[in-house]
Amino acid sequence: MELLDSSDKSLKLAGQAIAAGKLVVIPTETVYGLGADAFNPDAVARVFEAKRRPSFDPLIVHIARLDQIDRLVSKFTSKARLLAENLWPGPLTLVLPKRSEVPGIVTSGLDTVAVRFPSQVLARKIIEYSGTVVAAPSANPFGYVSPTTAHHVARSLGDRVDFIVDGGACEVGLESSVLDMAGPAPRLLRPGGMPLERIQELIGEVLLPQAPEKVVTSPGQLPSHYAPHAKLYLMERKKLHSAFGMIKNPDTTAFILFNAEARDEMTGIESFGKVEILSDKGDMREAASRLFALLNELDTQGIESIYAERVPDLGLGRAINDRLSRASYKAKLRLD
Ligand code: AMP
Ligand code: MG
Repeated sequence: MELLDSSDKSLKLAGQAIAAGKLVVIPTETVYGLGADAFNPDAVARVFEAKRRPSFDPLIVHIARLDQIDRLVSKFTSKARLLAENLWPGPLTLVLPKRSEVPGIVTSGLDTVAVRFPSQVLARKIIEYSGTVVAAPSANPFGYVSPTTAHHVARSLGDRVDFIVDGGACEVGLESSVLDMAGPAPRLLRPGGMPLERIQELIGEVLLPQAPEKVVTSPGQLPSHYAPHAKLYLMERKKLHSAFGMIKNPDTTAFILFNAEARDEMTGIESFGKVEILSDKGDMREAASRLFALLNELDTQGIESIYAERVPDLGLGRAINDRLSRASYKAKLRLD
């Protein structure tokens, strides 16, 4: 693996590598993506291999200009267009009817394709230089926390990719919102970096994700996903506070709290090894952008249990709670 900087020369090299069928890790505003030419089935197969991702999981195809959607999509409805024109580029993925030319391995045989137009300038330049569109899932081993720095990727997938472009920390730090626009009514498949409220403002009613136990059409919907190695327990602030007495190993226990107020309210929290605040002032955007970096970091520090506070279910808070609850699923099974 070769680590590339963000110079124009490197971005060109990265783009050319994608065109040549190589695997290139690209920085985006959401998380780092493991990119390959979406129209090269062999390269896309290597993405699954590198991630050890089950083959039923379709990938998101990244474009660098709105007109590239025509290569992918057979029906771009007016509602979908409205969303694209207002919210792209940005952390929103639209699932739309696909053109027959899109290889089945990209969409896992579905007749729809997930498309995103990232706002990260480096990502766009790499895609532009590749001369194609780029299929890219998050650049982490399947089921593990998504990477928000080049360092996270190098640690977990470094020996399985050709290039990693270092674009610094991801601005949003949370995967895109995935919205199904191919069915009879718009449905949110995965909450993410684009607040649901902004989508609703434009197109009105949006159905919410179905219960994870019921459907596995979208692996972001698998109940246990995005999980760190440490056991994660997710609870309301009050419950978290009353759980203090039951914690046996304070040195290997970490807390993830929403804001500084939470820490101030929880008398006795000083006696634990690690207390992390997502955002002192309770800013959702800052909280979202820190979440995965924090989970990645705690895993390298010998932390065995993580107690996380449920954040308010507003805006990006919905996506934060969704990821925390998926990360906590294994722990929940052990508790039950
Ligand atoms: P990731 O690439 O890791 O951010 O995950 C992409 C998410 O988009 C996964 O949850 C996929 O299952 C979902 N996705 C991609 N394509 C489709 C599709 N055609 N229909 C439904 N969900 C999709
Ligand atoms: Mg992922």
